[in-house]
Amino acid sequence: MTNVAAPAVDTHCPYCALQCGMRLSGARVEPREFPTNRGGLCQKGWTSGALLTTAHRLTTPLVRVGGELVSASWDDALDLIARKLSALRAEHGPDSVAVFGGGGLTTEKCYLLGKFARVALGTSQIDYNGRFCMSSAAAAGTRAFGLDRGMPFPITDVTRADVVLLAGANPAETMPPFLQHVRNAANSGGLIVVDPRRTPTAEQATLHLQPRPGTDLALALGILHAVVADGHVRGDYVAERTTGFEAAWRIAAAWWPERVERVTGVAAADQRRAAALLAGADRAVVLTGRGTEQHARGTDTVSAWINLALALGLPGVAGSGYGCLTGQGNGQGGREHGQKADQLPGYRRIDDPAARAHVAGVWGVDPDSLPGVGRSAYELLDALGTEGGPKALLVFGSNVVVSAPRAGHVADRLSALDLLVVADFVLSETARRADVVLPVTQWAEEDGTLTNLEGRILRRVKSVDPPDGVRSDLSVLRGLAVRLGQPAHRFPDDPDEVFAELRRASRGGPADYSGITPERLSAGEELFWPVPDEDHPGTPRMFLDSFAHPDGRARFVPVDHSGPAEPVDDEYPLIATTGRVLQHYQSGAQTRLVPELVDAVPEVHVEVHPDTAARAGLVEGAWARVVSRRGATRARVRLVASARQDTVFLPFHFPGAQRANLLTNPALDPTSRMPEFKVCAVRLEVMT
Ligand code: SF4
Repeated sequence: MTNVAAPAVDTHCPYCALQCGMRLSGARVEPREFPTNRGGLCQKGWTSGALLTTAHRLTTPLVRVGGELVSASWDDALDLIARKLSALRAEHGPDSVAVFGGGGLTTEKCYLLGKFARVALGTSQIDYNGRFCMSSAAAAGTRAFGLDRGMPFPITDVTRADVVLLAGANPAETMPPFLQHVRNAANSGGLIVVDPRRTPTAEQATLHLQPRPGTDLALALGILHAVVADGHVRGDYVAERTTGFEAAWRIAAAWWPERVERVTGVAAADQRRAAALLAGADRAVVLTGRGTEQHARGTDTVSAWINLALALGLPGVAGSGYGCLTGQGNGQGGREHGQKADQLPGYRRIDDPAARAHVAGVWGVDPDSLPGVGRSAYELLDALGTEGGPKALLVFGSNVVVSAPRAGHVADRLSALDLLVVADFVLSETARRADVVLPVTQWAEEDGTLTNLEGRILRRVKSVDPPDGVRSDLSVLRGLAVRLGQPAHRFPDDPDEVFAELRRASRGGPADYSGITPERLSAGEELFWPVPDEDHPGTPRMFLDSFAHPDGRARFVPVDHSGPAEPVDDEYPLIATTGRVLQHYQSGAQTRLVPELVDAVPEVHVEVHPDTAARAGLVEGAWARVVSRRGATRARVRLVASARQDTVFLPFHFPGAQRANLLTNPALDPTSRMPEFKVCAVRLEVMT
């Protein structure tokens, strides 16, 4: 078992993108000073040591025999996988094998996973769960600024801002230590929160704008309209540093606040107040979260908030700006180094010939041998086992049976595979369906780098030995690659060796890590990418002189409101929206192992306005059946007087019949391919 008597090590939390600093002594956690948490930890971080001693730990590979998962040796398990993959590739071609990664994996794992897919398997079919949570902001940031680094400034710029607008984010529950950074704004009357729910974050706001779900794009247009109509546009900034204002304004001009009020339910006076607060600040920051992104028009919605920030002259100005609050622990690094269907390491596009040539050179392969763009995450899952779709899937760091939209259908697609392989440290809901389960190291049992929500590269340090029988994901990839005919040296399993190669692969790319060394990180240097050489100090603030488009200017993008993909009707009269609670993280695969967290929140609930519940015949504490066009889930009723009467909310951390994602709509954003987790039409029923 895990060695829990290990010496104290300074490292970082296993969960979210704040990557709070902690000191770990075996399984004992203490907070430590770090710029993002300043000595704070949330309940998830405080209790994370329990992951290292969980009784549910897997310590031997499992292979399905006669319908049961039974123990196997590593050689037998890896031989079996390689044999089946080789047979499928020979019969159906390389795209018959798919890979699914995760935004919680270290950057080294993300990098090697992408290389493994493209080189060892030759498949284009690789994507990851970050497609479900950050891809719309990444797409909107890229089209506005020419490059996406979620928050292109240090978190201290948020700390000092007089006004902070938080759109679709609830850090009081998702990353509580972050709230310190908006305290100045809150204390000086400048915290604006946009959220259909009166969340614990909204409780602290100066101004809570509570739009109907799926209408926040219209709300952003209304505030932009007020900014222009009330003479708050920064004309000099717009003229010198941007293009496209006129086209964006032609649309916003038709969205005067009273019209927006009719669509969103947000009072026109509050829209004007938000505009005035933002315009009157010396330092203002606009931040967006999953609430803006997880829509069939999520990229456009984020663009609407960026347009507002540009009209106010915020991006690329020290102390102000626009940023995305990245969610997963390595959500930023995970999207930069090659596990995304359309990208190669260094945040390069896989369809760019120069990028292919550079990366192929580092990998020692022919650029023409590299596959092209593959299916996005949901499209990949939807195609599993279909005619022309992948017949085998390898999952690393993801629990799609709980976290994917239309989860019942996704589970059915997994059942249609010839081979499902899951690498995890416990038997997640997805692993339970696998043909082969590979027990891998977790968090504190290995070294690795991550990039936090600021674009800061940091090191998680090995602090305990893994249990006997467990291997690192890097070792698994190497073992499989060799069995598939690759030379061993092409797939190193030492994190430092992988990082050294990643630095070369990223050189010259948008996310250039080539100047980052383990020594610089260990010495405590604050390194924000790009860091193009070892003498470069890194780039805490991007875009100060110019944006990353060839003309150096940011782009207004003309976007208009069209509403959610699935409207309500008589049969499904309510809007369901999903999100997180303080005690659990993502699919709950980790936090549901921690007794304190499970004791606090053991089951799913549905937040309902008392009048809405009464109309459905439901009372506090009853079990409700929540039904959408795709499935039904059961949830404990929680009456919330501040809820919108047309909206119910469910957290998505729970398995089985309590999965909120049995309901959700996989309507995809046309640019980011992100599903519309945040809006679907439902009805409530009494459970009999
Ligand atoms: Fe910090 Fe996030 Fe970990 Fe909580 S879950 S301790 S906010 S990194």
